[in-house]
Parts: sequence; structure tokens; C-alpha cells
Amino acid sequence: MNMVVVMEKNASNEEIEQVQARLRQAGFKIHLSRGVERTIIGAIGDRSQVDLGFLEALPGVEKVVPVMKPFKLTSREFKSDDTVVTVRDRKIGDGGVQIIAGPCAVESREKYLEVAMLVKEAGATMLRGGAFKPRTSPYSFQGLEEEGLKILAEARELTGLPVVTEVMDQRSVELVARYADVLQIGARNMQNFFLLREVGQVDKPVVLKRGPSATLEEWIMAAEYIVSSGNPQVIMCERGIRTFENYTRNTLDLSAIPALKRLTHLPVIVDPSHGTGKWRLVEPMALAAVVAGCDGLMIEVHQNPAEALSDGPQSLTPQNFAHLMTRLDKLLQNGRV
Ligand code: PEP
Ligand code: MN
Repeated sequence: MNMVVVMEKNASNEEIEQVQARLRQAGFKIHLSRGVERTIIGAIGDRSQVDLGFLEALPGVEKVVPVMKPFKLTSREFKSDDTVVTVRDRKIGDGGVQIIAGPCAVESREKYLEVAMLVKEAGATMLRGGAFKPRTSPYSFQGLEEEGLKILAEARELTGLPVVTEVMDQRSVELVARYADVLQIGARNMQNFFLLREVGQVDKPVVLKRGPSATLEEWIMAAEYIVSSGNPQVIMCERGIRTFENYTRNTLDLSAIPALKRLTHLPVIVDPSHGTGKWRLVEPMALAAVVAGCDGLMIEVHQNPAEALSDGPQSLTPQNFAHLMTRLDKLLQNGRV
């Protein structure tokens, strides 16, 4: 149903316009992508309405590629350059590795500000922390909600690091976007299509976590919802999937990194904390993820994991996090192996 028209390197604006006009005439919706190298015209519509040979013969056209994949705007075919997402002064997807660290949940102002400074000193480049934490039991800790968002904003002022936090439902998108630098869509919400559409209308980057049972295609289609709603700043986050293995909380699918890099142009980060559920496995899997080509890591860190209100068993102490950062630095000094 869809196709991509790759223009020649020196195609003129008139030539690009002519192809677009032709496609529009045939009822296609157009998405223009002007890369450094060349312009690519993505077209969504009914392919039987145009003669591909005719299109390819138009001046300035290099080739017409029919797209079989169900995702379009997020596909590598549509945009060959990597998408680089800018979060304040940081970039995700430019070849570097961003480190998002902090506790599972914002538990109190004092504890959060303290751990934020500790992870910063160890080299974290962004902060994480959940303000909305609905749990299995409605009687256990539910998160500090707006109070938690205020603490996150204060931690940003204190550390200068951008903050990433989860938005759970459509109703609170505006509220969370007022405080956060990056909106996180949780694994269980990956196919909450109304929520995806809502964050697609916000001008803030979105971390889209992989659903615990989602295939790569389903996950990319979820990203397609956000991008097609108008927000191209999507960061994919592998956080482990459900398998028959139950020693670990989830099975961290590191093959998703190179696979996604082939299928899409979006940056990919990895969360080895939720991916394994065990703090001892976090450091080795984090290093492995970097070798496999991820653009960033999301790591849970707590001053006293034994007392954490959520996800203590998978949280690193600040000391263990510093250890991971030292090893990561060594790895990156030699370039990625
Ligand atoms: C989180 O990162 O706080 C979280 C709840 O993770 P996930 O949605 O991947 O379970
Ligand atoms: Mn958690």
C-alpha cells in the first residue's frame, strides 16, 4: 500500500514538487524527508492508483521502492539517517551513550535529591524516577504524583540533568509534560493507543518501552502511532520480555538492538534493571547492551535497595552504579568493541 520515492542527489525543488503533486493527485498522503544526502518522499495510499514505472521515469527520481512493512514513518526505508533526539543539551542517537539513572520511584524529596547528586557524580547524564506508581495492590505505595514531579523538577535544577518520568494515562499527559523533559510510556502501556496518540501531540521526546509480550513489529507499530500523530522524537527502550525462563524477572532481548537498528531509524536504549530483575546481572547486561550498539541505558539506583518502596532487588547502590560507570568508561575509551 505504501512506497518510498528516493530522489537523486541533485534533484531540484521543482522535481521534488512534481513527484509530490503526482502522488497527491493519486490520493496519496505525503511525508517528505530531507536528509543531508538526499530527499525521500514517503507515500501512503493505494499503490494501484499509480504506475510505478511512470513515477520512476519522472525527472529527478532515482528509484521507487514499494514498502512491504506495515510501519512507514519509523522505517529505515523511509529515512536512512539515524534519528537523533535532543533532550535539552543532550543527544540520544548520535553514536554516544546516554545514561539515565535514578530510583524506580521518587520516594521523598530528601532521598531523591541525594541520589540524584550521587548518580550525577558517578557520570549519569539524565535522571529517572517514577511519580505515578500504581501497584498490584491498591493499598501499597502509589507514588507521590504531582509532588513527585515537583521533586524531579527540583532535582533538575540542582543537578542540571534532564528528567525522564512515566506518564500513565491520557489525563495526566499535560501535567507530566509540564515538569518532565522526557515522557516515558511504560511497558504495560505500549499498546495504549489513545495514550500514544496523546504523547504524539506533545513537543517532548518520548521513551517507548517494549511491552512484555510485544514482538518487534508490534513495538515499532506503537512508535508509528506516536510519530504519525506528529511527534518524531521517539526513543525505543528494550526492557525484557516474558519467556518461559523465570530465574530472571524478564528475558532481556539484546538482539532487539541490532534488529531495530536495521528496521527503524529511531534510537534504542536498554533497561537492564527491569530486563533482569536482579541487581547482580545489571552491570554485565548493561555493558553487553553497549557493545550491541545501544544509544543509552536506563538504570535503577537506590541508596538502600533493601528498603526501597519498589524494585529494590534490581536496584544498584550508588557504589555499584559508580563501578558500572567506571567499566563503561573503559569500554568506551577504546571505542565500542
Ligand atoms: C519503570 O521504568 O519505572 C517501569 C515501570 O518499567 P516498565 O514499564 O518497563 O515495567
Ligand atoms: Mn522499577
